[in-house]
Amino acid sequence: MTARRIPFLRLAPGEDADAVRAAIDRVIARGWFVLGPEVEAFEAEFARACGAAHAVGVGTGTDALALILRALGIGSGDEVITTPLSAAYSALAVMMAGARPVFADVDPARLTIDPARIERAIGPRTRAVMPVHLYGQAADMAAIEDVAARHHLAIVEDCCHAHLATAGGRPVGTIGAAGAFSFYPTKNLGALGDAGAVVTNDRALAERIARLRNGGQTDRYHHAEFGVNTRLDEMQAAILRARLPWLNRWTERRRALARQYRERLARGPVDVPQQLDPGHVYHLFVVRSSARDALQAHLAAQGIETLIHYPLSIADQPAMAAAAPAPCPEAARACGEVISLPLYPALDDADVELVAAAVSAFTKGQYECAR
Ligand SMILES: *Cc1c(COP(=O)(O)O)cnc(C)c1O
Repeated sequence: MTARRIPFLRLAPGEDADAVRAAIDRVIARGWFVLGPEVEAFEAEFARACGAAHAVGVGTGTDALALILRALGIGSGDEVITTPLSAAYSALAVMMAGARPVFADVDPARLTIDPARIERAIGPRTRAVMPVHLYGQAADMAAIEDVAARHHLAIVEDCCHAHLATAGGRPVGTIGAAGAFSFYPTKNLGALGDAGAVVTNDRALAERIARLRNGGQTDRYHHAEFGVNTRLDEMQAAILRARLPWLNRWTERRRALARQYRERLARGPVDVPQQLDPGHVYHLFVVRSSARDALQAHLAAQGIETLIHYPLSIADQPAMAAAAPAPCPEAARACGEVISLPLYPALDDADVELVAAAVSAFTKGQYECAR
């Protein structure tokens, strides 16, 4: 039994608190709250951090995905192939754009969309493929690019778990037509509320998304096309600007903690998914166990909080029934076995040691006897 409680996350600003407060004060003093200098500066700074030519701030990561699809001309009657193992928002964004999500099961080793299954899911209405860089590790982009090129499909990257991640050395978000980022408070770069952005190297696409996020206006009160209202506000943009200079350090810290977990858990009793790319940014540290629920209870009893990402394959969500998804057994199996351990920059080595020791002390057999 440990006296120390280890929360899954700590979201209150820490070493960045003074910078965050100064940013909030600056916005209040200026009295300019929507589409102003903070958003413009954040867009330039975030694009540079991502190695992209353009960034467009929007209200959420979900809106970022939906607007990329709409700006690519994808909508009613079209299909977008995506992964069943992600936040359901990935697929909901496809539906928001008016298109139908089609699920291609995951590669069981990588847990991201399996390129061979993408190929099999392609039909006459398929227009795009939307991989998710799950848990901070890029999907198999070289193979996805190959399939997409042969079938003339656009690639839209869901980068909501993957700020600053790279795939074979290439920054995520710059490999396909565009990438969508979320700054939901729990993400690797979090706002103090909802926020999102699109990154792209395509200037025309960036301009179209900047129009679509603001009611489709070309000039004030001139709505050239059907846009929506999903702007990044000045307060969140200023907070994100205050935090962005820490992101490299925070990412390195996540990698160091993940390394420590990997070393400590190498001999079981859980399966630690492979790190297939050193560009992994460890949004989450996820392990697998066939006795996952018992393991979660064992850790909770010692004050260690864990979460499940995700408990249900998107293909099995009632909200997807209208899309008539095909079964995705690998994703469904993963949903029954994955468990996310605490991992964030404010965690210290002793915390990881404690969690790893608690995981190591778990034996499935003992637990089954005890019940
Ligand atoms: C968080 C998240 C989203 C949605 O982002 P919001 O900002 O919450 O709309 C989409 N996809 C993935 C993989 C996410 O983790």
